[in-house]
Amino acid sequence: MGAVLALDIGGTKLAAAVVDGGARVLGRSRVPSPVGRDPEVLYEALLACCVAALRGADLTAASLAGIGVSCAGPMAWPSGEVSPLNMPAWRGFPLRRRLLEEFEVEPVLIHNDAVGVAVGEHWKGAGIGTRNLLGMTVSTGVGGGLILDGHLYHGTSGNAGHVGHVVVEPDGPACVCGGRGCLEAVASGPNTVRRALAEGWEPTIDRPADGAALAAAAAAADPVAVRNLARSGRGVGVAVASCAALLDLEVVAIVGGFSKSGPHFWEPLYAAFHAHAQMAFAAACQVVPGKLLDDAPLLGAAAFVLDSAHYGWDPDQRVDPTHPTGSASRMESRS
Ligand SMILES: [Zn+2]
Repeated sequence: MGAVLALDIGGTKLAAAVVDGGARVLGRSRVPSPVGRDPEVLYEALLACCVAALRGADLTAASLAGIGVSCAGPMAWPSGEVSPLNMPAWRGFPLRRRLLEEFEVEPVLIHNDAVGVAVGEHWKGAGIGTRNLLGMTVSTGVGGGLILDGHLYHGTSGNAGHVGHVVVEPDGPACVCGGRGCLEAVASGPNTVRRALAEGWEPTIDRPADGAALAAAAAAADPVAVRNLARSGRGVGVAVASCAALLDLEVVAIVGGFSKSGPHFWEPLYAAFHAHAQMAFAAACQVVPGKLLDDAPLLGAAAFVLDSAHYGWDPDQRVDPTHPTGSASRMESRS
């Protein structure tokens, strides 16, 4: 099989890479995501990124074996109309149709970026050779994807793996989804930073009050930063223990900002995991940092196409109108 074009679309950056079957990146490009509300400005920036990656690989679109996309949710899956929460320019944007028309290659497969992380880490990262993996990202949001019995698991509507909305503190903070005490409300970067600021944390004057600054403050023993990073880690540990018990997982691979923040995040995470994962099979689950770092969603997107036997799907599957929950595949996927 030839090389594929892989895209990673998020509120901070747009990334494109040409990837071959051996997971070698032949060309790549990356630009900051345009802000603003014009859908075509955003799309044109994405196209420029694609063209630059193809040029870097010295390939034309005609030689591509397909296009894989990891995109911030929510989206209609598998039809690929995307409405990324933090990219207001696209609301129901027909990304899959536009890419099909633009490049005239098939398949074009679009999935949630956290699903891309799980697939990337299973294909070429921390989960190589395992059969059951939860890949998760703890970042602006908290998302995840599942590999079960060696295959990407979609669920009824393409939403399987939404670990960010597993409840870890039933009386905890309100969540953007409308629920309460979800992992994302407890553990995401912005929610953790907001809580620390409310408790009196003062970031140094020369840097933004973000997750990286909070992690740096924790490393410098700021007690408010330490306490809040620990609460994030603990929440992740509780959620992972539940997932390991439910799904008999071999590996949970975690990427995203806080996964790089050292023992102030990981030690409370492991303590909570081991406190709650008491059955031997659940306790045996390996909880590790992802290996692919920022490339996880990009390589996962490539694998949707390059290893479709394990990670692919039929993007043209139609909703069965006689199925009682037939509208489910049109449900929004939210990361
Ligand atoms: Zn929620």
